[in-house]
Amino acid sequence: MEDDGPVWAFVFSLIAGLLMILDGLFESLAGSLADELGAGFAGGILSALGFFGILFGLVVVILAVAVFRRPENHTMFGITILVLSLFSVVGGGGFLVGIVLGIIGGALAILFEESEDIAHDPVRGHDVPTPVLANGTPGPRASSPRVCPNCHTALPPGAARCPDCETPVPRTT
Ligand SMILES: [Zn+2]
Repeated sequence: MEDDGPVWAFVFSLIAGLLMILDGLFESLAGSLADELGAGFAGGILSALGFFGILFGLVVVILAVAVFRRPENHTMFGITILVLSLFSVVGGGGFLVGIVLGIIGGALAILFEESEDIAHDPVRGHDVPTPVLANGTPGPRASSPRVCPNCHTALPPGAARCPDCETPVPRTT
């Protein structure tokens, strides 16, 4: 898995959006053609629906990029991608494949864990062993385990800087 962003949410949503645009274009062209052949009103409706398909596809493409560049807003972007993917059915839904990919992409964006790297970090997520003095009373760190004020990484004793984000930390002991 990549740690630097919601890559799969981006890929799925991007392809979904592009398929929606393509399908919308086809539908618009088909509508125009039908209009030319005398379908008139029906052709106009088809063109309009195709136009909406293109529009939804464009927004999904923009949102796909937005999820990748602003992962902190992944939930909002993901929900919007999901909803727009469902709406894109009016423009053909990217040959229906676009709907499926858009739903997957949107769901991946919603489920994206911003702090995924924490699980892979050997320092974070584990309790720092508490030093116990010879007489059985807990050591100084037991009462106040020192963590980075910025990223909450456990700090080694006597550290002046956070080993993870380099934030200077005040010495309290
Ligand atoms: Zn830190």
